[in-house]
Amino acid sequence: MLIDEEIVKIVGLEEKALMLLSEPDRVIHFRIREHVPPGYKMVHCYVVYHNVARGPPCKGGIRMSSDVTLEETTQLAEIMTFKNALMDLPFGGGKSGIAADSGLKPEHKRILMEGFAHEIRYELTSGNYVPAPDLGTGPREMAVIFGETHLRECVTGKPVGIGGLPGREEATGYGVSAIVERSAEFLKKDLQDLTVAVQGFGNVGGWTCAFLAKKGAKVVAVADKEGGTMNKNGVDIEGLKNHAKQRGTVRGYGGKEISNKELLELDVDVLIPAAVGGVITAGNAGKVKAKLVIEGANAPTTKEADGILEKRGIKVVPDILANAGGVVASYEEWRKGKSGSRTKREETYATISSTLFEEFDQVLDCSTREKISLRKAALVTATRRLVDTMSGRGWL
Ligand code: NAD
Repeated sequence: MLIDEEIVKIVGLEEKALMLLSEPDRVIHFRIREHVPPGYKMVHCYVVYHNVARGPPCKGGIRMSSDVTLEETTQLAEIMTFKNALMDLPFGGGKSGIAADSGLKPEHKRILMEGFAHEIRYELTSGNYVPAPDLGTGPREMAVIFGETHLRECVTGKPVGIGGLPGREEATGYGVSAIVERSAEFLKKDLQDLTVAVQGFGNVGGWTCAFLAKKGAKVVAVADKEGGTMNKNGVDIEGLKNHAKQRGTVRGYGGKEISNKELLELDVDVLIPAAVGGVITAGNAGKVKAKLVIEGANAPTTKEADGILEKRGIKVVPDILANAGGVVASYEEWRKGKSGSRTKREETYATISSTLFEEFDQVLDCSTREKISLRKAALVTATRRLVDTMSGRGWL
C-alpha cells in the first residue's frame, strides 16, 4: 500500500476510506490464445481498476513486459489512483499488463493488441477504461485499439492523425524536464548549472534528455537495458538518439561505457530513474551521490530506499508528481476526443507546466507545513482529494 500510518494520521483517514483505498476495486485477468505472436502459446493479460471513485473512466497505461504480473499491475494501478487525484483529474486509477516481450516486432505487437482490445472491448467502449502507452507500448499500439473500437475517446496516446494530441508523445518527458527546472531551487542552482544522469532512453527517458539538453542542463550519463554511456562534458543527445535508433541501444555511443549500477551511483546533481521500477533499493540507496532524485519511472524507489534517501537529506520528487505530464496530456486528448476540437503542441506544453507547477506548490506547502517528505506530502494531498470525492459520492 502506498499510504502508511503517518499519512493515515495526518489525513485523519477513517476506517472505511482506508479499506476502500487498500485493495483494488476490480481485477480482470484473461489469456489471449489466438491473437498471439510466433513463439507464444498464450499470453496472460491483466486490467486492474484500483479505485474508481474519481471515474469512470479509470485511466492508466498498458505495460507490455515478459515479467509483468497481476501484483505489479495492481501496484501501478494504485499509483494511478493517487496520481490522477493529485493532478485533480476526473479519472479513477487503472493499469494493464500484457505478459509478452516488450522487444517484439511492431507487427507482432499489433496481433497481441488486437487480441487484447477484443477481450476488453466492453471496458473500452463503455468508457470504463481509457488506456494509454506505458513501458513496451506506444502510439502504434494505441492506434490498434482505436482501429478496433473506432472511438477516439476510448484511448489516448494515439498518433496525431487519428485524434492524438500534438505533444502527447513527449508529454511525460516534457513534464519531467519542467519538474527538474522547478526543483533546481532545492539545490539553489540554475538549470544550466545542473549535471544529470538518466536511466532509460525510451519514451520518458529519451524525451526528458532531449528537453533538458534543449534547456541547457548537462546530461552527463544515459543508460538503457543494455548498458550506458557517459561524457562529463555532456552527452550529445541528438547524436545519441540517432545511435539508439540504428542500434536499438544507447550502449556503444562513444564516451565512457558505464553500467546501470554505476549510473545510479554517479556524483551528479540530479538522478532521473526513467526506466523500470525498484532500481533504487536498500542495497544501493546509501551509495546514491545525486543531491536530488526525480522519479521519471513509476515506483523506481523501494520503501526502504526512500527512508534511506530521506535520512541522507536527498530530496525525491515522487513519480505521482514528476511523471504526471503524460496523464495531464491524456486528459486533454480524451476531452478533445469527445468534443472533436484540436490543440496546438505549445498549448499542450503550457497545460502540462501549469498543472504540474500548481500541484508542485501544493505538495511543497504540505511538505513544509507537516514536516514530511515530498512523497508523503503528495500522497497526503491526493488522499484528501480522494476522501472528498468518496464522501461526495456518499461512499463514506
Ligand atoms: P519505454 O518502453 O519507452 O522505454 C523503457 C526504457 O527503459 C528503454 O530505454 C529500456 O531499454 C529501458 N530499460 C528497460 N529495462 C531496463 C533495466 N532493467 N535497466 C535499465 N533500463 C531499462 O517505456 P517508457 O514509456 O519510457 O516508460 C518508462 C517508465 O516511465 C515506466 O516506469 C513507466 O511506467 C513510466 N511512465 C511512462 C509514461 C508514458 O507516458 N510512457 C508516463 C508515466 C510514467
